[in-house]
Amino acid sequence: MGNKLIVGNWKMNGTLADNATLLAGLLNGLAADHPARVAVCAPAVYLQQLQSLLQGTPVAWGAQDVSSHERGAYTGEVSAAMLRDLACRYVIVGHSERRQYHGESDELVATKAQRALACGVTPIVCVGETLAQREAGQTDMVVKRQLASVIHTVGHCTSELVVAYEPVWAIGTGQTATPEMAQAVHAVLRAQIAAATSNSARVAILYGGSMNAANAAALLAQPDIDGGLIGGASLKAPDFLSIVGAAGAVH
Ligand code: PEP
Repeated sequence: MGNKLIVGNWKMNGTLADNATLLAGLLNGLAADHPARVAVCAPAVYLQQLQSLLQGTPVAWGAQDVSSHERGAYTGEVSAAMLRDLACRYVIVGHSERRQYHGESDELVATKAQRALACGVTPIVCVGETLAQREAGQTDMVVKRQLASVIHTVGHCTSELVVAYEPVWAIGTGQTATPEMAQAVHAVLRAQIAAATSNSARVAILYGGSMNAANAAALLAQPDIDGGLIGGASLKAPDFLSIVGAAGAVH
């Protein structure tokens, strides 16, 4: 695995003015030689703004969801081809908030990943267990089932995925998996990917769930943690930059 990958998930936050300020802070603060790969995933309406402000910079951009349909009568949906049109490098699929609030199934998430890949947009496939599932000892089974659905659907393109392990109980709660807990699940996912593709070293496995300036270095130092998917801390340039700095330091 090469440089760590740090991705901000802005969720449903931002305004044109706030985004411009945040991105300026980010671009100004990035050290010229920072060794991490950096991206931000914004609400779809702001992707054109990201394209115009980030083109030619070291920061890539992406979306937070994509339609499972190719085109046509799907009011309100945004297709993978539209994301490619706006030069998105990434799209998050299967975030727990979409699984939870929009009833997204493993199969739907897999189809979304496939649509993205078909358009040259890298899906960031989120998997993770709830607190009840962890307490019932089901963590490995749940994340493997979620990822298996995607691997089954995308087949030989598995090596093109980014995977994010995001324990649901750690997202937006301030509760983080310990580095050892996260590493244990990442190792399970790594083995599953290795069984599916000979090119598994290409696949970055990110950790997400209340990652912040204080805990990033210890998480990112784990052998199978290739980066982070950052929610709350990606909305403040100094916090996000500290995580990028921590990623560079353990490279
Ligand atoms: C996320 O939304 O993917 C996330 C990890 O959020 P937070 O960092 O706020 O827990």
